[in-house]
Amino acid sequence: MVTARSHSHPRLRTICPGPPARTVPVPSALPVQSAPPGADVSRRYDRQVSIPGFGVAVQRRLSQATVLVAGVGGVGGAAATYLAAAGVGRLILVHPGDLEEPDLNRQTLMRPERVGQSRVLCAADTLRAHHPQVEIVAIDRPLDDPAVPSLIAEADVVVDARHNFPERYLINRLCVRNGVPLVVAAMNSTEAYLLVVRPGEPCLRCVFPEGDPSWEPLGFPVLGSVAGTVGCLAATEALKVAGGFAEPAVGRLVHVDLWDVDMRAPRTRRDPACPDCGPGSPDSPDSPDSPEHDPGGSA
Ligand SMILES: [Zn+2]
Repeated sequence: MVTARSHSHPRLRTICPGPPARTVPVPSALPVQSAPPGADVSRRYDRQVSIPGFGVAVQRRLSQATVLVAGVGGVGGAAATYLAAAGVGRLILVHPGDLEEPDLNRQTLMRPERVGQSRVLCAADTLRAHHPQVEIVAIDRPLDDPAVPSLIAEADVVVDARHNFPERYLINRLCVRNGVPLVVAAMNSTEAYLLVVRPGEPCLRCVFPEGDPSWEPLGFPVLGSVAGTVGCLAATEALKVAGGFAEPAVGRLVHVDLWDVDMRAPRTRRDPACPDCGPGSPDSPDSPDSPEHDPGGSA
C-alpha cells in the first residue's frame, strides 16, 4: 500500500511533517466508457491524480473497478455520489422501493418530482447526468433477491448502507464467501459508524454478533449532513480499497458523534467462533468448504 502524505499548511507540517511532496505526472488521457460528444474527460480527475501517492495508476485502477452500493438513501447516495465523481468505472446500485417525501431531507440524488417512483432509478439518472463516463447499473430489488449474490461476487468492493442487521449480515456473509472487501456504514441521529472488512480481518458479525439496536429501526432520526458525512467516509474507504492507495481503516470500528465532534476508532478482534468468517463457517476463507478452496464452487 502506498501511504505517502504531505501537508502543505505550515502548522500541519510542524505537527505531522510526512514525507516530502512528489511530483506526479498528469495523464494525457484516461480510459472512459462513454462521454458526451465534445467532452474533455481527460482533465476531469487532474485534482486527485496530483495527490502524492495517488497518480495515474490509481486512477486507472478506479476506472476499471466495480463497486456495489447496497442502499442509496442518505448514506449510500452520498457514497455513490463520490464514488462516481472519483471515476469508478462501474457502480451497481441495489435498493428496493419508491421515493417518499421525508427522504428529501438527506437523499441528495433524489428529485421531488420523482416522489412515488423508484428511488434507485432516480439515483441512477442523477449520477448519469453528472458522470456520463461511469457505467451505472440500477437494481430495484431487495438484498435477498437471487440476483444479488452474483452481483456481489463480481464487485471489487461493496458498500453496505442498509438500515437493518438481517440485510447487513446477508451482505457480510456474501462478501466473506466471495472474498470481496466490504465497507459497512451506519448512522443514527448525529452518530456515524464505519467498519472496513477485508478477507481474514474481523467481519461485521465478529464485531456485532447480535446486532445493535441503535442501528436497527427504520424511521430513526437522521440529520442529512451526518448521513452525508458517513457516506463520504465510506466512499473514501472504498476508493482506497479499489484503487490500492493509502491505508483503509481495516480492523477498527470508527465511531463519530458529530453532536460534540467526538471521534474514536477502537481496534476490533476476529471471533474464532464467528458463524460468518470463523473456521467452522462454510463461508470462511479458512474452511475447506469455502468456494475459494473449490474452483468449481459458485456463490
Ligand atoms: Zn466474523
